[in-house]
Amino acid sequence: MNMKEYIDEAEAALLHTYNRYQIVWDHGDGMYLYDIEGKKYLDFVSGIAVFALGYNHKAFNDALKEQIDKIIHTSNYYYNIPAIEAAKKLKKISGMDRVFFTNSGAEAIEGALKAARKYAFLRDGHTDHEIIAMHHSFHGRTMGALAVTGNPHYREAFEPLIGNIKFADFNDYESVKAQVTDKTCAILFETVQGEGGIYPATESFMKQIRVLCDERDIVMILDEIQCGMGRTGAMYAWQRYGVKPDIMTSAKAVGGGVPVGVFMMTQHIADHSLTSGDHGTTYGGNPLACAAISKVIDLYEEQDILSNVKKMGVYLYEKLEELTKKYDMIKAHRGVGLMQGLECTQPVNELINHAVAHGLLLINAGTQIIRLIPPLIVSKEDIDHMVEILDKCFAQL
Ligand SMILES: *Cc1c(COP(=O)(O)O)cnc(C)c1O
Repeated sequence: MNMKEYIDEAEAALLHTYNRYQIVWDHGDGMYLYDIEGKKYLDFVSGIAVFALGYNHKAFNDALKEQIDKIIHTSNYYYNIPAIEAAKKLKKISGMDRVFFTNSGAEAIEGALKAARKYAFLRDGHTDHEIIAMHHSFHGRTMGALAVTGNPHYREAFEPLIGNIKFADFNDYESVKAQVTDKTCAILFETVQGEGGIYPATESFMKQIRVLCDERDIVMILDEIQCGMGRTGAMYAWQRYGVKPDIMTSAKAVGGGVPVGVFMMTQHIADHSLTSGDHGTTYGGNPLACAAISKVIDLYEEQDILSNVKKMGVYLYEKLEELTKKYDMIKAHRGVGLMQGLECTQPVNELINHAVAHGLLLINAGTQIIRLIPPLIVSKEDIDHMVEILDKCFAQL
């Protein structure tokens, strides 16, 4: 079958929840993806901030194959070595004390919200606690994660979602403070807003929220699903601020392409929240998923991924600044490490289509922002190549 025939079959069988690019993938290698007709694409999307180590990484693939031949699944009624190893390594890279494995980012958010509510419930016996989330945030598509996602368009048709959620303005401490009541149990935000347009938290916002949470015994939850796992040059973006959350979520890059998520918490929250019977999952923490996490963390260290992100993040920043000066269509450039965005004066879908035609994969964040989230192994040559194509695409418009 040719590409068109596959796409027709897909459209006849799949639920139409995505406007997909007209590409059927065959395989990947390093920074490149290849479609079934052999066309090669430089990838600055990474499967949405997932494929940090690049495609077809031999050591990673071998670790998965080895685990598949041992055991894939056992359930959480027993222990398995990959889960023990992965949990220890996650504690080490995050500085958190307790780990719960999930299958996705949204599910990690669900767990974090449940832990915060249980914490408040154990404190006063009430069930009317409020959670403050941010406008323009994104936390996932389940009913709970959607309830804290600050995009009314995503939520509207699915109301009522979980109740007692309030929204404040990201990076505006006073707007958060104005929403705090005696019933506030948690404040939740992304350390760097991803889908909402690549907005890093300011240092003062992070610090003020931390103080507020300490003063009022409010659980501070940071969503590091997109910005975590090295993307900003620190293992977790919050580590750049000297501020530690009480609960945090991680997913996307943490499984290197295997669907996993995780929520983690301090000992204090663990001692006063979820306990036996409060939460569970069939697949979460299964040996295959955890072998992936464990190997990903090892490879970050072996390949010194963080220093590459720091170096390439600066280089990408410089290159994108040049483009920003060159084209009036680019209104703003922001971001940190290998999570950067170009805000344009018009919708960027046409520009992205041009890029795809030239063999460069890009993704938007909102309608007017181009989001650059390449694999964390990206090199100067890859960035030069990307900028060359992007330059051509801007010139074409
Ligand atoms: C992608 C994302 C999620 C949701 O993760 P899924 O694995 O798609 O459920 C939650 N929060 C942030 C910040 C994300 O980028």
